[in-house]
Amino acid sequence: MKTNPKVIIIGGGLAGLVAAIHLSNSGLSVMLIEKSAYPRHKVCGEYVSNEICSYLEELGVDVQYLKPTSITQLEFSNRQGKLVNASLPLGGFGISRYALDYYLYQKALENGCTIIQALVTAVDFSDELFDVTTPDQVFRSKMVLGAYGKRSNLDLALKRDFIHKTAAWLAVKAHYSSDFPNNLVALHNFKGGYCGVSKVENNSVNICYLADYKTFKKYKNIADYQREVLYTNKHLKAVLENSTPLFEKPLTISQISFDKKPTIEKHILMIGDTAGLIHPLCGNGMAMAIHAAKIASELVLDFYNGKIASRKLLEQSYAAQWENHFGKRLFMGRILAKALQYESLTNILFHFATTIPSLLPWIIKQTHGKPIAIS
Ligand SMILES: Cc1cc2nc3c(=O)[nH]c(=O)nc-3n(C[C@H](O)[C@H](O)[C@H](O)COP(=O)(O)OP(=O)(O)OC[C@H]3O[C@@H](n4cnc5c(N)ncnc54)[C@H](O)[C@@H]3O)c2cc1C
Repeated sequence: MKTNPKVIIIGGGLAGLVAAIHLSNSGLSVMLIEKSAYPRHKVCGEYVSNEICSYLEELGVDVQYLKPTSITQLEFSNRQGKLVNASLPLGGFGISRYALDYYLYQKALENGCTIIQALVTAVDFSDELFDVTTPDQVFRSKMVLGAYGKRSNLDLALKRDFIHKTAAWLAVKAHYSSDFPNNLVALHNFKGGYCGVSKVENNSVNICYLADYKTFKKYKNIADYQREVLYTNKHLKAVLENSTPLFEKPLTISQISFDKKPTIEKHILMIGDTAGLIHPLCGNGMAMAIHAAKIASELVLDFYNGKIASRKLLEQSYAAQWENHFGKRLFMGRILAKALQYESLTNILFHFATTIPSLLPWIIKQTHGKPIAIS
């Protein structure tokens, strides 16, 4: 065992990297262990809610440096291609995970964080200390944050309940060159899923969809599936037919689960998707990952400077704050996603959204947070 940092963070996506920056800004020694090399693309809609802007600024993270698009409008269509539009109450920005995660990684390195590229295979806790195992080394620390995303080998190693259930969703994403407004995020429904379209930096358009595996597996490949299923919505047909892929082939992930997960597991504080994944339809998972990193980091700092007297109190505070900030959003996200699986319910929702203009912004507010307050 070579190092003994104050905090070990497992996973260097948004939640892990932001926590690393927050904790190291405050002088704690941080080791982050990430299995992949940076920069890398990720399956994600890449629309980030503005609610986290003030917090990122406070951390010294200048997202504007990456030249994101500014997104203010939502366009939503049902399976028949009927459209409804709304202004986004808070708005957001479009940035690729390739650029954003790499930028945060560089910032964490500048802050002096130790970043190790390795797969964590086990975490054990005894005598108030964690042993974090990778294929080559074991690292020890008093504090571990789990930021390893929605599904990982570690969920199996930690025997988490949700990992044994079959998850019915898969997702496909690629960047395209296409003519699409900078300020718009479009959500188009199709049978068995929905597709998000929005612009990120460098004039690239991100097209990312979630599909149910049952419908998807009837087709031989992604191209056939898109032609036969996505094209039944005329807006998706128009977007896809008029876009040139910038990736050699689309990225895919499967077994996406929206099940509830414990926020603390074997004394590891879980942040981001490791604690719970909001339905991507809500476009709020990245903001939640960043916000959860803030909550956990502040509590860990209080634990180390004696304001929180015990691990038990730390864990209770974290679980309570997590539920307080994200419980209602996740619940609303689940209800919304369930409703949109049924064509008749989607059409009823549509009818009301077109006749009551304030309804869509109200629904969006229920699945988003308020701008993060900075103390
Ligand atoms: C189809 C789809 C579309 C989405 N669209 C949007 C959107 O438009 N807006 C939005 O806000 N959210 C969206 N989300 C949600 C968003 O992508 C996630 O909420 C966000 O990525 C969570 O960040 P994270 O840091 O928790 O996890 P991640 O970003 O997944 O990071 C986890 C990291 O842990 C690493 N890791 C995993 N296991 C190990 C291990 N054992 N050892 C070491 N490293 C490990 C992984 O390599 C990864 O880098 C979408 C999600 C999906 C599935």
